[in-house]
Amino acid sequence: MRELKTKGLVLREISVGESDKIITVFTEELGKISVSVRGARRPRSRFVAGTQVFVYGDFIFFKGKNMWNLSQVEVIETFHNLRNDIYILSHGIYAMELLDTVGEENNGNPQLLQLTLHTLWNLSKNEIPAALVIRIYEWRLMSLSGYTPEIIHCVHCSEKKEEYPYFSVTEGGVLCQGCYAIDRASHKIEPGTLYTIHYILSAPLKELFKFQVSDIVLKELAKLNRSFIAYHLEKRFKTLEFIDKLG
Ligand SMILES: [Zn+2]
Repeated sequence: MRELKTKGLVLREISVGESDKIITVFTEELGKISVSVRGARRPRSRFVAGTQVFVYGDFIFFKGKNMWNLSQVEVIETFHNLRNDIYILSHGIYAMELLDTVGEENNGNPQLLQLTLHTLWNLSKNEIPAALVIRIYEWRLMSLSGYTPEIIHCVHCSEKKEEYPYFSVTEGGVLCQGCYAIDRASHKIEPGTLYTIHYILSAPLKELFKFQVSDIVLKELAKLNRSFIAYHLEKRFKTLEFIDKLG
């Protein structure tokens, strides 16, 4: 019987049968895995606390015939403050959906796990706006997943310019004044927005959530990121539309 001892974050839970659950855990060792948890929904189950979304813990799994089973969990963090506010909670859920989308099975990505933990921690601290925390998460997550945008050179002529007034989602980066016409759907962006993306992509993790931006930059980022993610991940996230409605 194969055993796996690893730190991990619960991304998703699905009820199965009368009292069981299948949880999706983003693990340090093996990336995303599905785990069956027998009796997890019985009120007196020892797994009630440790198998909820946002739980970060030390897990021990064993491999059954078809899938992993939970043998033990020791909770390290529950991020319970996320649940105090529906607006912040929705951003947390969206972060889990993003990670679920880019997370690969049998492929650990400890940097992505650390980034996500910092994101949840900063959402629950609520010191900088939830919307900005999530815009930061989006760019770093995309970059760690192989979708780093080109922001130093024009994606069309490859020249390095002083200014880039446009960003092309389909080309995956900035366009100079001379080239923007190649993508009529490119986004017009402020220098402050480009500077912010540059900072997000290059700052060390501990400095990542320590800045503020203007409303204009935040709005441009919201629009640009949504379009970049929808195009490259080929997915629209309903939670974002829900967040729009919350305002
Ligand atoms: Zn160019």
